[in-house]
Amino acid sequence: MSDPLGPCGPSGPSGPSSGPGMTAATAFAGMRRVSPVVFKAGCPDCRGRFELAASALRLAIGATSRTTFYSFTCPECGSAVRKPAGERVVELLTGGGVRTLRLHSTV
Ligand SMILES: [Zn+2]
Repeated sequence: MSDPLGPCGPSGPSGPSSGPGMTAATAFAGMRRVSPVVFKAGCPDCRGRFELAASALRLAIGATSRTTFYSFTCPECGSAVRKPAGERVVELLTGGGVRTLRLHSTV
């Protein structure tokens, strides 16, 4: 009968093979990059907070930043909300697949 417990010599770098970091790495690797983009928005009328998909938002780019805004319909009260969109917001919305409407035709 041979000894089931073989000699455990120092044959390799031993490190923390299991730990809380391992779980986080696994969860991170399992994340999907194709998750739908949602934008957090608020309604000034009913003060509701919600997340809207890119298809629920419309971006209108005017000649100036004053006429550039994004609009959506509040899912809570149904009112049309229009808010000014800065450069960062424009980049965020266009990058997320929001339909863009250019108000000025001279490009
Ligand atoms: Zn509302």
